[in-house]
Amino acid sequence: MFTLDQFPLHFVRDSLEPYISATAIDYHYDKHLGGYISNLNTLIKGTEFENASLEYIVKNSDGKIFNNAAQIFNHVFFFNGLKNSGDGIPTEIESAFKDFKSEFKTAALSVFGSGWVWLIDDDGTLKIITTANADSPIKHGQKPLMTLDVWEHAYYLDYQNRRGDFCDAFLDHLVNWEFVTGNSKK
Ligand code: MN
Repeated sequence: MFTLDQFPLHFVRDSLEPYISATAIDYHYDKHLGGYISNLNTLIKGTEFENASLEYIVKNSDGKIFNNAAQIFNHVFFFNGLKNSGDGIPTEIESAFKDFKSEFKTAALSVFGSGWVWLIDDDGTLKIITTANADSPIKHGQKPLMTLDVWEHAYYLDYQNRRGDFCDAFLDHLVNWEFVTGNSKK
């Protein structure tokens, strides 16, 4: 059994305003993440995954169980990487790309339908990748450092169809860079 309490937010709900509203966090965290947790609990009952860790389930399941487990992992990773900081992009990330911000935004806009944009550490090389729907780098043995949720539900309340503006706000104001650089050392 997984519960929402296992994955607490590390910021106060209105602290990301004006870039993400408290209302959007209420829906995204309580309803969307909460929904995936509730679905997964129902799906794993009586299966080999009933007492498994979330990462184990993501790596070893497929179909509906994978979709819900991976969405939990991806959302927790996304929420853990948010902070209203406005700190600049760390040099070690900036220097690994020609134009990190523009490349990340181009990737975000390239996702057709629902998905995620990631900065990953691929055997020592920093790369920007996208995944579709619930797919997650940990399914493919890759190490995620940061992610942006580009499912419509992530931004529609605050930005309607303007995914690019949401991505700009994320990169300029909402990345917890300590979380990102901490992940690269794991
Ligand atoms: Mn989401």
